[in-house]
Amino acid sequence: MRDMTMVTSAHKASGAGSIPLHPLTPEQELATRVRLAQALQMSLDPNEVLNLFYKHIQAIVSVSGIVFKFANGTTDLKIGRECLHHCDYRLTTDEGYLGEIIFNRSKRFAETELLTLEFLLSSLIYPLRNAVRYQTAMRLALLDPLTLVGNRAALDSALRRELQMAERHQHDLSLLMVDVDFFKRINDDYGHHRGDLVLCEVAKVIQSACRGSDITFRYGGEEFVVVLGKTDADGAKIIAERIRQQIAETHIAYNGKNISATVSIGIATRHQNEKEHINDLFERADKALYAAKESGRNRVISSDELLIRV
Ligand code: GH3
Ligand code: MG
Ligand code: MG
Repeated sequence: MRDMTMVTSAHKASGAGSIPLHPLTPEQELATRVRLAQALQMSLDPNEVLNLFYKHIQAIVSVSGIVFKFANGTTDLKIGRECLHHCDYRLTTDEGYLGEIIFNRSKRFAETELLTLEFLLSSLIYPLRNAVRYQTAMRLALLDPLTLVGNRAALDSALRRELQMAERHQHDLSLLMVDVDFFKRINDDYGHHRGDLVLCEVAKVIQSACRGSDITFRYGGEEFVVVLGKTDADGAKIIAERIRQQIAETHIAYNGKNISATVSIGIATRHQNEKEHINDLFERADKALYAAKESGRNRVISSDELLIRV
């Protein structure tokens, strides 16, 4: 693998006998650099930046596919196809390691082509770095810093999206409101820091008990909301029961003792064909949660069972 620590001088692809396309003159290099810079500045989405790069370099070096592996562990970006021959570069800026880029092709890369690729990469590094930085900032803005599930802003946009889908495709949509029981006592008995660990554990269990990780949100304090698209009241009840049970079975070791917690869950389902404002759905879930607390905690209650209609 080659290291690509920001190429500062352009490599002139001269004497490129085995390059199928003509090597670039200094003027062409400059024009390419300007064109690439203009194109790549059009987006702050790493996937789009990479696609633009892929499209633009084809006229200069033929490549069948690109894979980009983010340093921050985000899922790899893949364009085109993976082939027998590939060349890999570690991309590094003055801020550190950005990721690894892999160019694929069924035909072996000639040394002169590699030099051209390196020259082209020098135009990619900073637009890609900016896009990755922007994407990271956007993601962090939507995350709860303690539990790393979505925050309220993320919940709002997820709900809007799910509601649109439910209306367009006539699906049921369910909402779970999960509240840790007697959490104040956990804080009092074990300290705020241990309380925080319990919240992290609860968030983890909720995520693993659901079908995906992007539907769990921290609503505030010790309350979480789970948005279940395409899920009717019966399906929501099964998932909520699973969450309740798994949390009750979870223990956090502390000074030779185990801290355990339980949760109460209120469910509200927006039935297809029934137009209901999201605030009303929340209110029903909240009332069901309150009923679960009233009936002894460590319970799941659906607002359908309460026959509450706001
Ligand atoms: P209930 O069963 O009725 O829900 O009782 P509860 O004690 O869980 O409810 P209450 O609303 O009385 O207390 C919630 C507690 O959660 C009080 C607050 O200090 C604590 N809390 C809120 N946010 C955090 C947090 O981020 N970390 C920790 N450790 N505690 C928090
Ligand atoms: Mg609460
Ligand atoms: Mg509580």
